[in-house]
Amino acid sequence: MKIVDQDKFEEFIAQYPVFEYRLIDPKPLRTARRVRIICEKECQRYHSSWACPPAVGTLEECEAKVHSYDQAVIFSSVAEVRDILDFEAVLATRREHEKLTDSVAGFFAGEGFETFTLSTESCDICPRCSWLDGEPCRFPQRMHPCIESYGLVVSEIVESEKMEYDLGGNSILWFSLILLR
Ligand code: SF4
Repeated sequence: MKIVDQDKFEEFIAQYPVFEYRLIDPKPLRTARRVRIICEKECQRYHSSWACPPAVGTLEECEAKVHSYDQAVIFSSVAEVRDILDFEAVLATRREHEKLTDSVAGFFAGEGFETFTLSTESCDICPRCSWLDGEPCRFPQRMHPCIESYGLVVSEIVESEKMEYDLGGNSILWFSLILLR
């Protein structure tokens, strides 16, 4: 099994605004039915994207995929907005985190790892997702399902890893989980 060179990774992320990170074993991660129910009942993106349920697969399939990787890195970045209640402004800050996520995944790919990225919110690369038209995803290498779409409870992972989940005020913490093998 290939192991992450943590010194090299730390040297790499020193150039980036990564707030916190942990290298974790993905095998203990469990999917939660309640997360999928929230997707179904409360999210407008449900059934509208390759990056969301049901396109991402059943909870059992998602958990099996997560467990098929040897290691994972979970990391956060911070964004500031004038008003935390301004949903559009909050959402706009995720783009920088997504760029950061691509850079981190690129680092691991360069180190010879096969990567699978779970990140924030739903994919918005295309104005209309091809899922809606029964067509294959146009950019399967670029799109990232969000962590919750896989039924994972971010707050539980963060808590078990003793990471910050909420900084309060007008600060936002975005999280990504990159699976490695
Ligand atoms: S890349 Fe395009 S087709 Fe693929 S999930 Fe994202 S929006 Fe949908």
